[in-house]
Amino acid sequence: MSPGATSVLLIYTGGTIGMIENPETGALENFNFEQLQKYVPELRRFAFRIDSYQFDPPRDSSDMDPEAWRSLVKIISNNYDNYNGFVILHGTDTMAFTASALSFMLEGLNKPVILTGSQLPIGVLRTDGKENLMTSIEIAAARDEHGDPLIPEVCIFFENHLMRGNRTTKMNAENFNAFRSFNCPVLATAGIHIKYNQNIHLRPKKDAVLKPHYLLDTHVAILKIFPGIEENIVKAVFGIEGLKAVVLETYGSGNAPRKEWFIRHLCEATEKGIITVNVTQCSAGSVEMERYGNGYQLLQAGVVCGYDCTTEAAVTKLMFLLGHGFPPEKVRQLMEKPLVGELTN
Ligand code: ASP
Repeated sequence: MSPGATSVLLIYTGGTIGMIENPETGALENFNFEQLQKYVPELRRFAFRIDSYQFDPPRDSSDMDPEAWRSLVKIISNNYDNYNGFVILHGTDTMAFTASALSFMLEGLNKPVILTGSQLPIGVLRTDGKENLMTSIEIAAARDEHGDPLIPEVCIFFENHLMRGNRTTKMNAENFNAFRSFNCPVLATAGIHIKYNQNIHLRPKKDAVLKPHYLLDTHVAILKIFPGIEENIVKAVFGIEGLKAVVLETYGSGNAPRKEWFIRHLCEATEKGIITVNVTQCSAGSVEMERYGNGYQLLQAGVVCGYDCTTEAAVTKLMFLLGHGFPPEKVRQLMEKPLVGELTN
């Protein structure tokens, strides 16, 4: 990359943004990146270099997994010195999981990695894809007066809002504003101007060196409680062979039923070294286990506080920390600390 010249790498993984209707079945299917460019001739109007890389075959984001996250980390790390920023086109269904995973796996990141997609395919007249794509590229290329990237972190850009990736959740399957970052203010808003909310951006060290991580341990489960949940369900989850951690989705500020068997299974899990992390089923707000008796009993059973972490961030963070082979006590400690802005403690 010649000094001063700007360049962005566009990585196309799949998703609605690059889909087209199968004339026989009517279902949306992936098409290739050349066709995507045909529908967005505006890409040529950027005054800087945009290169592209395509997943082959592109995939619906329901098929994204740790292997695909590793591929993304590899593409970014192999091309890190050649580009000012990266834009990842991705299906919306699991975009918040991928953004969360990448935020942990790309340690020392000091360039923008912006994930975006759309609710309507880019070839459709009313598509939201064009706007999302063009603004994401602009943000990925944006630099301050010293030439440093404005957004040195993994983000999702959707419907005018730039959000910290590991704070997002897909919350709408219909509207164009598919994502929200309930517990963290947006990092930028795109209107006539793109207004950056600089006081909440992450500030990596200027001389930070990218350290890509590839090891993820998937021996994790999510358990969402509900009134009437049966003991055999809870017992079956905690009894899973090889299980190392559970994200427990609780009520409100971290509450769960006051049933003797429920607490017993949690205590036994803690004794076996299984880590249970408490996150709330509510979209916004934080776990506070000391607040009610029903939450306090979880604390006493050794449950870790997930604070205002999303389920997406909690699961991928557990995979990341367990992938390091850390002992349970160390994982428990790190789950309560923000590593890359994923929670407010
Ligand atoms: N099923 C699609 C996907 O996540 C939905 C989308 O892109 O919005 O790949």
